[in-house]
Amino acid sequence: LLAADGSTASTIFAEMSALALTTNAINLGQGFPDEDGPREVLDAASEAIKNGVNQYPPGIGIPQLRHAIADHQHHFYGLEYDPDREVLVTAGATEALAATLLALVEPGDEVVTFEPFYDAYGALIGLAGGTHVTVPLKAPEFTPDLDQLTASVTDKTKVILVNNPHNPTGATFDDATLRTIVELAERHGAYIVTDEVYEHLRFETPHTPIASIPGASDRTISISSGGKTFATTGWKIGWVMAKPELITAILAVKQFLTYVNGAPFQPAIAVGLGLPDAFFQTVATTLKAKRDLLSAGLRTAGFDVFPSRGSYFVVADAAPLGFPDAVEFCRELPHRAGVVAIPLSAFYSDANRDQAKSLVRFAFCKKVDVLEEASGRLAGLR
Ligand code: PMP
Ligand code: GLN
Repeated sequence: LLAADGSTASTIFAEMSALALTTNAINLGQGFPDEDGPREVLDAASEAIKNGVNQYPPGIGIPQLRHAIADHQHHFYGLEYDPDREVLVTAGATEALAATLLALVEPGDEVVTFEPFYDAYGALIGLAGGTHVTVPLKAPEFTPDLDQLTASVTDKTKVILVNNPHNPTGATFDDATLRTIVELAERHGAYIVTDEVYEHLRFETPHTPIASIPGASDRTISISSGGKTFATTGWKIGWVMAKPELITAILAVKQFLTYVNGAPFQPAIAVGLGLPDAFFQTVATTLKAKRDLLSAGLRTAGFDVFPSRGSYFVVADAAPLGFPDAVEFCRELPHRAGVVAIPLSAFYSDANRDQAKSLVRFAFCKKVDVLEEASGRLAGLR
């Protein structure tokens, strides 16, 4: 990570958010909401700080939050987790992924993901010494070819790492895909690590956790986070759910990564997880309207727009506008149109980056007037 000239590699999100600031452009690059989440959740954190909840919490997470996580899984998906032995609180989904991969993957083990993939996956598999094997998701639907998936999972596969709903494409995976993943994991003795941080950000069909597919529960490590659901991406409260022996192994790593995290934010996320169903429905319907608004704006501007069924993101093709290279397009976009977006190639391995060519990821988790203004600006590109 430290280059020969002493500079350090930076993530595409940091680079593009910095560009948005220096050019005063609308930031549809990094996925974070520009409005606060539910008042009850924010108030609970302020109250906790005022009430002295400011020292190290237990490493595994406070009991109130672990119970709220288990209750939420049971309420929405009928899944049973023992809050004392099968739930671990982490510093966001990012630490959950890091601790899980470092605990499970030995040098030389293969980890299979779809491609494009969330950038941290490639980096964390590398840090764990694993070998990253990818299965392509192709526009416009970004669904995997199940034969290709089957051919990519072998006895060398230690982990199949799934992200559903999917960042950066907005794809959601149907039950046939989830069942195939579980069958392959069983056949080859692999673990399934599933990143479901966008579980409540789905626009067409309800969420099916892969842990609920028959045969999955013993070998599945499920990961989620409060950041997206409660619009608190800066709080970094995530969690892992798995069988007790897996949680013990992951906790053994987590204790030396962050030890503990976010004392006053933990009771607040517990409050959020217990909010009425109407809250979770409103999160999805509000975001769906924003997806529709930005997708229509992009279409009017001349992009080919692909379906987004979940997450904060929609992928669009800039080629019809006369921009064959998305990296160049995204570098120029703040200057030409006052908008920042991310080239999809940022989510590919070096070997496959050219598959993304003219594809661009836009985030729509922004205020309606911001999305309208961005759409207007993009319409001026032609
Ligand atoms: N996984 C995916 C797919 C994401 O999009 C994000 C968002 N940054 C994360 C993990 C990280 O989540 P957290 O902020 O909770 O660490
Ligand atoms: N998940 C968000 C995205 O994909 C933020 C990622 C980050 O800043 N590391 O844009």
